Amino acid sequence: MIHLSGVPAPLARVIEMLASLPGIGPKTAMRLGLNLLSRPASDSAQLAEALQTLHELVGFCGVCGCFAEQGCCQFCEDVQRDAAVICLVEQPVDVLMMERGHGYRGNYHVLRGRLSPIDGIGPEQLRLKALDKRVEQGVKELILATSATVDGEATAHYLANRYQQHHEVRISRIARGVPEGGELEYLDEHTLSRALEQRVHWDAAAA
Ligand SMILES: [Zn+2]
Repeated sequence: MIHLSGVPAPLARVIEMLASLPGIGPKTAMRLGLNLLSRPASDSAQLAEALQTLHELVGFCGVCGCFAEQGCCQFCEDVQRDAAVICLVEQPVDVLMMERGHGYRGNYHVLRGRLSPIDGIGPEQLRLKALDKRVEQGVKELILATSATVDGEATAHYLANRYQQHHEVRISRIARGVPEGGELEYLDEHTLSRALEQRVHWDAAAA
């Protein structure tokens, strides 16, 4: 609960909006609001402008589903990367985490979620048709980098079964350096790079 009695309405509105963001409590929201007010008006205008264009300018790549400024993302466009190696992740933010390690030179495919029967999320809700198409076009390796949660593991099993029929595709799983229950988002870049480097062939991982 934020106590905003005596706070001018326009400032109260800013504080309430800031407090609605994750990780920002009422006290921090108040401090940020007051800080914005103490700075030149141009700072607030720049922030407002950046927020206004956020949804306008940032969309999703039509191929892999990562964040993209135009139709295609920087990873799919980069001819230096190996398009025949595809790392499968749950969310666009996972791609950003993977890239912090700088070691990976393949491409990505964002599933936009993971299988979760309780939430009614089945294979049809994931971006699998687009992935089928990419696999048909020729892929050497699929790296399963879904989270180490129960649903993430179930998703990895499902994906391995779905694509194992393509004998020319090697299927691997990121190594167990990822702690149980771990979302990629919360891993440091070294743990994630190591997990990717030490990925294991799916058959060995499932044994
Ligand atoms: Zn892309």
